[in-house]
Amino acid sequence: MFGRSPKKSDNTRYYEILGVSKNASQDDLKKAYRKAAIKNHPDKGGDPEKFKELAQAYEVLSDPEKRGIYDQYGEEALKEGMGGGGAGHNPFDIFESFFGGNPFGGGGSRGRRQRRGEDVVHPLKVSLEDLYLGTSKKFSLTRNVICSECSGKGSKSGESRKCTGCQGSGMKVSIRQLGPSMIQQMQHPCNECKGTGETISDDDRCPQCKGEKVVLEKKVLEIIVEKGMQNGQKITFPGEADEAPDTVTGDVVFVLQQKEYPKFKRKGDDLFVEHTLSLSEALCGFQFVLKHLDGRQLLIKSKTCEVVKPDSFKAINDEGMPMYQRPFMKGNLYIHFTVDFPDSLTPDQVKAIETILPRPSRQLTDMELDECEETTLHDVNIEEEMRRKQQAREEAYDEDEEKPHGGQRVQCAQQ
Ligand SMILES: [Zn+2]
Ligand SMILES: [Zn+2]
Repeated sequence: MFGRSPKKSDNTRYYEILGVSKNASQDDLKKAYRKAAIKNHPDKGGDPEKFKELAQAYEVLSDPEKRGIYDQYGEEALKEGMGGGGAGHNPFDIFESFFGGNPFGGGGSRGRRQRRGEDVVHPLKVSLEDLYLGTSKKFSLTRNVICSECSGKGSKSGESRKCTGCQGSGMKVSIRQLGPSMIQQMQHPCNECKGTGETISDDDRCPQCKGEKVVLEKKVLEIIVEKGMQNGQKITFPGEADEAPDTVTGDVVFVLQQKEYPKFKRKGDDLFVEHTLSLSEALCGFQFVLKHLDGRQLLIKSKTCEVVKPDSFKAINDEGMPMYQRPFMKGNLYIHFTVDFPDSLTPDQVKAIETILPRPSRQLTDMELDECEETTLHDVNIEEEMRRKQQAREEAYDEDEEKPHGGQRVQCAQQ
């Protein structure tokens, strides 16, 4: 969709390419194209550029609608309508649709650019165990395949007629006058032939596919999830998407989505696990059993007389995830320790600990204490508190925005 003022751009070149006059009939155009296209076909040693130009010229002038736009507004108007680049259709397609196949036979459609079908993408949920151990999953899908009865022709006779609605191009161009010097041009698939450019008569329809050229097929794919694959990694089945005539079949792609795992978190090839110690475990030592993703029981224990500090990490080498395509190598397993301190102690416990743990090297003297002011410590949730204060600041700022002098006043008050 576009709007432009029609400037007088070249509207004779296409006629010159085909070597016909401006009032040439459809028949004249056909004859001219046939002669020139055969002579210049790259399979016969012709110049590919010239061949492309001929196809372009013929494609436009053989379509009354496009020819009308061309005569009135020139080449530029058409190019815009065809998606900017003005690439139009594949010259080989135009040539073959003209002759109903390649007249040189023998698969001579060298250089023919086929349409590529769309890829089909499915998410695939996997557990962390699946990615650790590797697994296979079955996925059943229903897809279009070329009808075996008619080999994708859609008809019993193998013949089809050019759609009259779009002259076989599959596309229709509609043009609208938006103003005295503005036109809007839109290209859309032909509704009569669903963009295929051809029609099949009712009595010639293939009984198996009813003229649709494709039939539904159920298929089960076995997806191999390899050890060490990552969340978001793609597993591709080339050419397993929907088939369509004259189309390179797209791929079926599975995208791995790793489910959250309660105990282990994964970062790359490493695994992280949270573990909370009691204060006495942190001070006097601990041991616990960690069940790994493959069911092995790992004994995790502190070194003799070692103290574990809160919010500290320890690592176990080679107990992380297997590396993708090198599964004999593994990342690390990191343990993050939290120490659960008691909220309070009994006076007896305090006395007992005081006899064991080292006291501060220097106590404050009475004289030093006399010079100090008493304070009270409150419990606080610092994150909550900071968030509240930030919010209050933002609200104050918003008010300043509304009153232009407000900011000034606050600044003065601070000085
Ligand atoms: Zn069929
Ligand atoms: Zn059509």
